Amino acid sequence: MNIKNKAFFVDRDGVVNRMVRYEGGWDSPQKPEDVVLVDGIAEVVGQANKKNIPVVEISNQPGVAKGKMNGEQSRAIEERVHELLKSQGVRIDYKYICQHHPKGVVPELTMVCECRKPKPGLLLQAARELNIDLEKSFFLGDKAADVQAGKAAGCKTIIYLHDEDVPEKVEEARNAPADYKVNSLKEVVKLI
Ligand SMILES: [Mg+2]
Ligand SMILES: [Zn+2]
Repeated sequence: MNIKNKAFFVDRDGVVNRMVRYEGGWDSPQKPEDVVLVDGIAEVVGQANKKNIPVVEISNQPGVAKGKMNGEQSRAIEERVHELLKSQGVRIDYKYICQHHPKGVVPELTMVCECRKPKPGLLLQAARELNIDLEKSFFLGDKAADVQAGKAAGCKTIIYLHDEDVPEKVEEARNAPADYKVNSLKEVVKLI
């Protein structure tokens, strides 16, 4: 008999760490110093930790592909996110990251891949490797692409609505057909 686990999938930028307002507009953190946790994420991750539900990060990180940073900088930002969670006594157990972009400038990362959200590739890979029951699992994101990926994989979807992005993205998120829409991560704790 093969009993599969329930997992709690989380997007990173805009859900675990806040988006950052730079001169050119909203973006994911471009430096480790710019990483700030979203209010309530430690409680969400902590609740899953307490219930022994694996927390799995599912993130598009095309910064290196686009030539905005090098691999070392990208890793330092990622590490900072996890360090801040650790300082709150909580942890993300696994991470699955797509580094590709169809219009990159770094040849080996420039491609139409199967893992970049809205495609469900990362969720499907995690489910295979970690023996996860997707139908029992939640995917918490903040963009329409997260909802699309979650639905395509057969997860229950939660979208965290915030206004730290360009108006079109904010609007798109509000209209996304998520199973749950929340304005605060505090509302997510009781769903876990
Ligand atoms: Mg996001
Ligand atoms: Zn990819």
